[in-house]
Amino acid sequence: MFFGDSKTGAAMGHALSRALVLAVLATVVVVPTTSQETAAWGDEPPRPVLATTTIVADLVRQVGGDRVVVDCLMGPGVDPHSYRATPRDADRLAAARLVVASGLHLEGKLASLLARLARRVPTVAVADALPRERLLPVADGLFDPHVWFDARLWSEGVPAVVAALVKLDPAGRAAYEARGAEYTRRLEALDGRLRERLASIPRQRRVLVTAHDAFRYFGRAYDVEVVGVQGTSTESEAGLADINRLVDLLVDRGIPAVFVETSVSDRNVAALREGARARGREVALGGRLYSDSLGGPGSGAETLESVLEANVETMVAALAGGR
Ligand code: ZN
Repeated sequence: MFFGDSKTGAAMGHALSRALVLAVLATVVVVPTTSQETAAWGDEPPRPVLATTTIVADLVRQVGGDRVVVDCLMGPGVDPHSYRATPRDADRLAAARLVVASGLHLEGKLASLLARLARRVPTVAVADALPRERLLPVADGLFDPHVWFDARLWSEGVPAVVAALVKLDPAGRAAYEARGAEYTRRLEALDGRLRERLASIPRQRRVLVTAHDAFRYFGRAYDVEVVGVQGTSTESEAGLADINRLVDLLVDRGIPAVFVETSVSDRNVAALREGARARGREVALGGRLYSDSLGGPGSGAETLESVLEANVETMVAALAGGR
């Protein structure tokens, strides 16, 4: 199922299959992307595959390579939990040849728009395709959406993207499958390297205190204790009791640093550091972690692989050295 609740999911699935069948019958599925093929299409630019977040856009680019034009709805640094679609976004979504979302309610404010859209435009949600037993539950029968921080788990979303691209462009099957397999191997190798690097942080200090709870999959995968100030979505508010509890943790455990995130407000993290200072302990700002967005052009963090490496180096530098 794609979006919305389980009652409408099946109906939407049927509607989507019908839409796909109609699309295939109308033979408008292949948008050429090489220069010769583009020439065959005249001046009309190829319609893009539209990803919701930078992280999903990266996945589609890794699998699609040169055959696919990928566009992204939310730019670098945008918080997907609170993002609302503009009228122009709705037009872009409706004009896409394929919409690829992250899923599991990451795009909370877009859910109903995406569900409606899925009746007309082929739509896939990467995290919704992952095995349920590997997902971390949160309240109300929902799951934590931040699955990309477990490189191996995220790689299990590759087949869903390969399948969606093959449906649109069957002639590209071999290319998509080969690129998908190669990307999966790279993510698996990266997974091992990250675990090794993080093991250099002494266990009692291997604690990640961040603005919102984006790193639970990361913590499970790489043996890092993770504490978010704000819960799994940036939509919830951190209470004073939460802040005080975290100040106790920082002081009692001698945690040397806390972290801020690129797509989330720093306010709560600042409150933690002030709280610790009032108790006579300096807690450093360990640096800025990429959470729900990749870095912008020129940041050196334009892919998920580079973001995972950059985050881990930031953590090691802030937490490993020391007293
Ligand atoms: Zn988040």
